[in-house]
Amino acid sequence: LTPRGTSAPQPDPETGAAVKAADRAHVFHSWAAQGQIDPLAVAGAEGAYFWDYDGNRYLDFASGLVYTNIGYQHPEVVAAIQEQAGKLATFAPAFAVDVRSEAARLIAERTPGDLDKIFFTNGGAEAVENAIRMARLHTGRPKVLSAYRSYHGATSAAINLTGDPRRWASDTASAGVVHFWAPFLYRSPFYATDEAEECARALAHLEDTIAFEGPGTIAAIILETVPGTAGIMTPPPGYLAGVRELCDRHGIVFVLDEVMAGFGRTGRWFAAEHFGVVPDLLTFAKGVNSGYVPLGGVAISAEIAATFDTRPYPGGLTYSGHPLACAAAVATIEVMAEERIVERAAELGERVLGPGLRELAERHPSVGEVRGLGAFWALDLVRNRETREPLVPYNASGEANAPMAAFAAACKKNGLWPFVNMNRTHAVPACNISDAEAKEGLAALDAALTVADEHT
Ligand code: PMP
Repeated sequence: LTPRGTSAPQPDPETGAAVKAADRAHVFHSWAAQGQIDPLAVAGAEGAYFWDYDGNRYLDFASGLVYTNIGYQHPEVVAAIQEQAGKLATFAPAFAVDVRSEAARLIAERTPGDLDKIFFTNGGAEAVENAIRMARLHTGRPKVLSAYRSYHGATSAAINLTGDPRRWASDTASAGVVHFWAPFLYRSPFYATDEAEECARALAHLEDTIAFEGPGTIAAIILETVPGTAGIMTPPPGYLAGVRELCDRHGIVFVLDEVMAGFGRTGRWFAAEHFGVVPDLLTFAKGVNSGYVPLGGVAISAEIAATFDTRPYPGGLTYSGHPLACAAAVATIEVMAEERIVERAAELGERVLGPGLRELAERHPSVGEVRGLGAFWALDLVRNRETREPLVPYNASGEANAPMAAFAAACKKNGLWPFVNMNRTHAVPACNISDAEAKEGLAALDAALTVADEHT
């Protein structure tokens, strides 16, 4: 492993204050009440760390938004972007460009089964939008089924497919979108008591949903292979294979969304490999180039690609397959192979993060459940382990969210930048962090959980 994350922060509070003032004056932030936020001014980042202008350094246990799978400022990827900028900084999508061809080849080589054609987008939501359009055009059917407790993006179709409680009045026009419950034993929608029962009931529920909606009206079923933002819920053995079988039986396109779980995060190139399942369409983004330049895409099966052999695909994006983004992807994939980063993620999960987080759960009554694999973990925080009452209600704000806010503040005070969502904290560091860095993160979580414990 390349040793990184060692740069000393250079305190420069004056510049920090200026950056912050301009931000507050002109930047409109995502997912926020603009008057109620105080964004940290970031001075730099390297490896698994970033730092502010006041000299505070943070271990990034969020990987940005779960995308810097190889960490920040990997020198080879930065150099590849610089080199590409000097050679050919941009070129329109209708042309064959060496670096775009190479990125598509490297991605297709790693995606499961016959997902060998790559449609490039600028991010995850656009990938989901296009996967849905492909499925509708391929089948000639209107509806799409997606799961509650999912996240598929914040554009029109993607936010409608999203099944988490952050959908607002603006997002109710969900033509053709039907939600169903996917398995999640800890908070089972099916009152199941073990994984086999949860799996069987979830599949029966999906079969019923298909029957009631009418199989001939359903273009696609979309699932995150391992739901991420909604709480990192690894599906029980047999579930995804069961969904694959239902899709085959009814001519429904099976879309797996690996925007978050793909490119090493779970300890495999794609999470679908854990379950031996090949979807018809697979969406990716984030880890494909660790977000150094925006890039996403859809990997397409031979059968669906054939639909658009003689009939045009009526969709495209100005920056599809942008050369800088593709150069970053080629370099990232090469670095991941050379430095065995996928294997490292698996090892981190098995040897360090999994055991370490389970050990924390033994000592902290606020930890209801530890879930995850690879470099992809969540702690489900509760008021009461018996009843599993979440530490804060869904979408809690203000006073109601105070316990999670206090927990997050304690993490930051201990030099850890957490990924906190509703009643959960996720441990999703770069996939190539060292054992020592992972243990530093676990120690900071340990200290912060004592704050959460006060609310049990
Ligand atoms: N799908 C999944 C599974 C995601 O996790 C995300 C982003 N968190 C998206 C889609 C949307 O990606 P983007 O924010 O790049 O549009």
